Amino acid sequence: MNSGVKKYKINEMIRFTLIAFFILQLIQCKGQSQEDTSLEYHLKISKKAIRTVEVKAIMTLSEPKLEMGSYGIPPDIRKGWANFVTIKSLTDSNGNKIPYNWNSQTKQWKLNASPNTKIVLNYEVTLNHDSHQWDSVGGVDGRPTVIGKETAFWVTKALFIYPAEKSEKKSTIVFEVSDEWNISTAWTRLGSKKFLAQNLNELVDNALMIGKHQEQIIKCDDMTITMAVSSDLAHRTSLFSKTLRKILPIYRTIFKELPSANYLVCASKHFFEDGEAFYNSFHQMFVDKDLESRTIVWGNVFAHEMFHYWNGTNFLVGSNVNTNSWFSEGFTEYYANLALVRAGLISQEEYLDKLSFQFARFYSSQAFAQGDHPDLLEAGNQKARNWHLIYGGGASVAFILDIEIRAMTAGKKSLDDYMRALYLKFGKTHKPLDLEQQIEELNGLTGSDFQPFFDKYITGKQFYLIPILKACEKAGLIVAQYQGEFYLKTKAGPSLFDALIKEQ
Ligand SMILES: [Zn+2]
Repeated sequence: MNSGVKKYKINEMIRFTLIAFFILQLIQCKGQSQEDTSLEYHLKISKKAIRTVEVKAIMTLSEPKLEMGSYGIPPDIRKGWANFVTIKSLTDSNGNKIPYNWNSQTKQWKLNASPNTKIVLNYEVTLNHDSHQWDSVGGVDGRPTVIGKETAFWVTKALFIYPAEKSEKKSTIVFEVSDEWNISTAWTRLGSKKFLAQNLNELVDNALMIGKHQEQIIKCDDMTITMAVSSDLAHRTSLFSKTLRKILPIYRTIFKELPSANYLVCASKHFFEDGEAFYNSFHQMFVDKDLESRTIVWGNVFAHEMFHYWNGTNFLVGSNVNTNSWFSEGFTEYYANLALVRAGLISQEEYLDKLSFQFARFYSSQAFAQGDHPDLLEAGNQKARNWHLIYGGGASVAFILDIEIRAMTAGKKSLDDYMRALYLKFGKTHKPLDLEQQIEELNGLTGSDFQPFFDKYITGKQFYLIPILKACEKAGLIVAQYQGEFYLKTKAGPSLFDALIKEQ
């Protein structure tokens, strides 16, 4: 018995020793991983050479490979973003040179170093992107450029070389620039010139404005929005922030919260309107003429790019980004239109014009397509070519579904509930979204089966005219239609349409 107790005690001692050992290991590992997960960047730009960025990067590589962002750059620029980079030196932390070579197939730098080597990399990025055509990758709103004499607009893909490995590394970014300059980023500010990017996407997939532009910080709940406006457009800053303050509450009503996050809006002047959204930022280009009376156009781009934060770039992201375009672009466009009318930024008549335009876009792309046209899902594989089908078709589908949900649930539920359900399940958890889940959620919300609808109109090529006309009828709209022309009017009395355009 005694020996049994003793044996128990010995076992207990061993157990405690082992537990203590594991705890120690855990603390050590945690300490190591925290050290390893940070990338450090130091960026120096002088007033005299605004097109040159000198970068010093310090990082530990688990695999000896480095790369830059792979998209958002025209394919004819063979080296990709690296085309504008000159490597000055590459050493280990003791200053020993590390040999490397560029692999043009994988578009990566392969280093002759053992795994887990800490490296110090010095390189220079030259802003010459604006001497290249950018139409094939979404246009000039996604292209680094110099605005005026002392402001540079960057997309961060152009600036950072990072480890070619899947990871959630955090980065600190320190700028060495003139004290007179604003540094407008989508990152968390740690000091006047020091920032933190939470992960690689936040580091490399964002906009950045640096120089003598105007900056305004807007707080909406726990969301902090930095508004960076080029000097030639600075007189419009208050109009832009006023618009944003009207749009954000509409999105808060849909998702029942605004995320506690930083967001960056960059605004600059151009001869046509356009916008591009990034991970937690967007860049919009404005025609600086009669802005107050053209909200239906620029306000819509503004609301569209902002909605992408929830649908397309940050929270809800398709497992296949291309084939999810009908949803990421079409539903975003539908909600941008709705946000304007719900916020009172456009009239009901203007909203009906916008809705008719979406129907016209789908009609001409389905009825007058040269040759065979793809289904809505496939259309995303050639986004530029199928632009009208993706945006107009996607927005038309969103309208049909919104009316269907409202009709099926006697007005108790709407597409807003659907978006919120997806946001809670897939957006906040950052789980990629696919078609089966989109159908399943819709079925759950309505207690119905939407598979046949998706088979016909999303993965099938059936003409949308009949479901659109039916949805308009249910909504309480009178439609006059001939070919791609749609004219919409409201019927007298309360209708589903009234509920649709009101904040829920
Ligand atoms: Zn978009």
